[in-house]
Amino acid sequence: MKYIPYTLHNFTSIPQIQKLPDDQIKEIEIVGQVLPFKTNNHVVEHLIDWDNVPDDPMFVLTFPQKEMMPPGRFEILERLIAEKADKEEIRTFVEQVRLEMNPHPAGQIEHNVPVLGDDILYGMQHKYSETVLFFPSQGQTCHAYCTFCFRWPQFVGMDELKFATKETDLLVQYIAAYPEITDVLFTGGDPLIMNASLLAGYIEPLLDSGIPNLQNIRIGTRALSYWPYRFIDDDDAGDLLELFRKVCRAGKHLAFMAQFNHPIELENDAVREAIQRIQETGAVIRTQSPLLRNINDSPEIWSELWRKQVGLNCIPYYMFIVRNTGAHQYFSIPLVRAWEIFQNAYKSVSGISRTARGPVMSCLPGKIQVLGPTDIKGEKVLGFRMIQGRSADWADRLFFAEYDEEATWYRDLTPAFGEDKFFFEDELLEILKPGEYESDYE
Ligand SMILES: *Cc1c(COP(=O)(O)O)cnc(C)c1O
Ligand code: SF4
Repeated sequence: MKYIPYTLHNFTSIPQIQKLPDDQIKEIEIVGQVLPFKTNNHVVEHLIDWDNVPDDPMFVLTFPQKEMMPPGRFEILERLIAEKADKEEIRTFVEQVRLEMNPHPAGQIEHNVPVLGDDILYGMQHKYSETVLFFPSQGQTCHAYCTFCFRWPQFVGMDELKFATKETDLLVQYIAAYPEITDVLFTGGDPLIMNASLLAGYIEPLLDSGIPNLQNIRIGTRALSYWPYRFIDDDDAGDLLELFRKVCRAGKHLAFMAQFNHPIELENDAVREAIQRIQETGAVIRTQSPLLRNINDSPEIWSELWRKQVGLNCIPYYMFIVRNTGAHQYFSIPLVRAWEIFQNAYKSVSGISRTARGPVMSCLPGKIQVLGPTDIKGEKVLGFRMIQGRSADWADRLFFAEYDEEATWYRDLTPAFGEDKFFFEDELLEILKPGEYESDYE
């Protein structure tokens, strides 16, 4: 299948779009000024159920909706466009709305950028001791965009991609210098937007360098869902699979971190074939997704997602809480409700499918799992577990907050038992540079 991207410039050529009411098409055009929008022929033909539009989960996941903008903003932008306001005025307003949508969550830009000698390694992130993230500069886009995306600012030109790199040499030196690093995670955007030879240019030096501490090469991607032909009939599909084989033959574990938000993404022949081809190289596919209101906020959807993934030999890995950026008010779910969904899904599958950890907030102090409500000496509290901490010693530690049905992020929580802070807060302040904690993003 030949890849046909659809953006604001050409999406009205999609036959199914032409059948929609005019105001719905206009809505996409208006919200698409603010949020990034891109889809493709696989999503349109195989993932969206057009009889179910506008409520269809894959439609909502890829086509912007007016409720995704802050209250009242859609109406103003609609009026500016209808009145043919000048371009500069519209651009300024769009920029203002984007800034209202918290464009820098989880310190992606400011925090955790490693330093090696005199070099600041932009395009890398090292937050947890054993894993370093690598953002290859040519991998900073995707085969389609998710409306909930937390990296959306870079797709609308707010981030200037200073957060990406071509420097494999420095990556190799950095991993060699820190023996505690076992994992490199290639991320983006989507690194599999790159052709096989570009990707090989990043991965082969890691193999050739023979760094003994490097065990796992991870690739974070949504290509299986949005463009499974990447592994089947794209021109370089064979070369890509050969590169995966090479990683495995070099004695490294190739961990394919795939994002699937809804079981429908696993129900076409192309994705099944692609999964099989990847697995034949020796790579192991792990799966993750945020829990999203209006998309997958029911236990039945999650148990089906996990069961289908296991049926395809994929390993469920994380259920995330949506980050507080972009259209999060449209997608977010209170922590207590998120835990209920997780627990109800978890209890209805066998242990083989219970490898998923969740619900998890990936936030400033670390990765925090919601363990759910409990009573301790007559006080109703919420339990949490630090899966990964800014400080390695925090891993696997428990803590408790006052029961709160409305909280959607750890910042909304109050420590239980009358304590004035959580166990990690003092040390976090020491680790962070001055001012970092003031950012209310994370
Ligand atoms: C999630 C994450 C990792 C990987 O954590 P694992 O639990 O090992 O999968 C690494 N770095 C950052 C910044 C992360 O958010
Ligand atoms: S695949 Fe990931 S980076 Fe790309 S749009 Fe979706 S959430 Fe964002």
